[in-house]
Amino acid sequence: MQFLKEINLKTSKERDLINITSEVLNVITESKIKNGTCVIWTPHATGAILINEDEEGLKKDMILGMEKLFPAQADYYHNQIDNNAAAHLLSSFVGQGQTLIIENGKLLRGTWQEIFFAELDGPRNFRKVLVKVVGE
Ligand code: ZN
Repeated sequence: MQFLKEINLKTSKERDLINITSEVLNVITESKIKNGTCVIWTPHATGAILINEDEEGLKKDMILGMEKLFPAQADYYHNQIDNNAAAHLLSSFVGQGQTLIIENGKLLRGTWQEIFFAELDGPRNFRKVLVKVVGE
């Protein structure tokens, strides 16, 4: 069996981490698939999917860490035609998708592993996350 669903988001900051765990869990429940895999993918070149603890300080540390890794204003080639090279770079380095295991109806993840959409070039009115569940 397989099941595909789209999660739509509106983001309000330039860089932000939006917890989408409950939406992903709802898709898995709706899929009725009990054993298999779940691919969480964002079809955006300036967004990312990451998994970590939903703690305010850590989320700030992540955003600050991203800024240190790829400062918004630096001498990027892409900024000669656009103004968001740092967002593209972060999207690739963080990753645009994650794959998780579904076992006996449960998404296998650690206690502190929440799923986030990372907005890297916001705010945006339309951001998508695709959730594909494959299994039986
Ligand atoms: Zn660009």
